[in-house]
Formats: sequence, C-alpha cells, structure tokens
Amino acid sequence: MSHDHDHHHHHDNELDPFAARVRALETILTQKGLIDPAAVDAIVDTYETKVGPRNGAKVVAKAWSDAAYADWLKRDANAAIASLGFVGRQGEHMQAVFNTPDTHNMVVCTLCSCYPWPVLGLPPVWYKAPPYRSRAVIDPRGVLAEFGVTLPAEMKVRVWDSTAELRYLVVPMRPAGSDGLGEEQLAELVTRDSMIGTGLARVPAKGAA
Ligand code: FE
Repeated sequence: MSHDHDHHHHHDNELDPFAARVRALETILTQKGLIDPAAVDAIVDTYETKVGPRNGAKVVAKAWSDAAYADWLKRDANAAIASLGFVGRQGEHMQAVFNTPDTHNMVVCTLCSCYPWPVLGLPPVWYKAPPYRSRAVIDPRGVLAEFGVTLPAEMKVRVWDSTAELRYLVVPMRPAGSDGLGEEQLAELVTRDSMIGTGLARVPAKGAA
C-alpha cells in the first residue's frame, strides 16, 4: 500500500487556535453551569452520524440510480459532488472508490484523521484513534470483523490512506432487493460506515420496494 503523506500534511488532531478557543469556551460554560457537556456531545453525535453523512448518502444514491452520474463521480469526484452542493473545507480533493463484487474498499488516515467533511461530516472517534489507524492497514479483515462485516475470502480488500491532499469516499455496492427504490429511499440504506468501508449498505426492509 502506498503511503503518500508528505510535509504539507495537516495534523487536524492537534488543536488549532479555533479549536482551542472552542475547548476553552466549553470548559468555562460548563464550569458556570450554563451548558451540559452531555448535550454538547449529543449535538456532536448528531453531526457525526446524522446530518453530515446524509450528504454522502445522497451522492451514493445518485450514483446507484444514474449511470452517467456514477461515471462522472468515478472520473471527477470533486465536480460530481460539488454539483449536488456539497463543497467546503477538507473536501477539496475527493476521490470516489467503488466497491465491486471483487474488491472492497476501506479508508483510513494512518497519520492523523483526514476525512471528507463535506460528504461525511465529523469523523467518528474510532476513526481518529490509533488502533483503527494502525490496524486498518495491518489487519483490515480483523477490523472489518469487529464492525460485523465478513467478506468472502476471495474478495480483495483495498485500503486507501487519506492525506490532506486527497480524501476518499467509498461507494458501497447497491444492496440486493433495492431495485424499485427511488433516490431518497436508497439514501436511507447508505450508512456512514459503508462510505468509510467499515460497513456495507443496509439491505432494504421487505416490502420497501
Ligand atoms: Fe490525516
């Protein structure tokens, strides 16, 4: 696996001045009893798992529904993603990697926590944690098993190491039984983890189509 982190790498797990001010404010407001850290955690969790990844889910659902869009996403992810209005910091240089029956893709940032914010929101804690960052490369199948994902032995697992210059979005395989679904219903099947590669798309409930 190539490792392309270079000296321009942005270590965003160190507090920048803005993050340090936020941390200081949270501490003061908590000490004065003005905010409840649990409530703040709940808001962060919402961005991590609900609001943020819905953008990526729309990208994936459109790629599943529209072959021309999928092709565009493959060739020029920046433009294809921006066409849906998802632009911003930490998402300037995107590459979409498509799962196939032969190859499963999984994303990590071995040096810190590079993550495609405009399509996935805030990175989950485990993504930033050293065990995932080291083990995703050494033992991707072991990590997948911990996420409840078991792939056929003959399926290749390809691990992509994010950098400040290049962020990856995994396009999971469209699940069986989703033929009759529209884009909005399809997006419901696209989990955050399926776009990192530590999960698969949900199988639709029977009768949904
Ligand atoms: Fe990083």
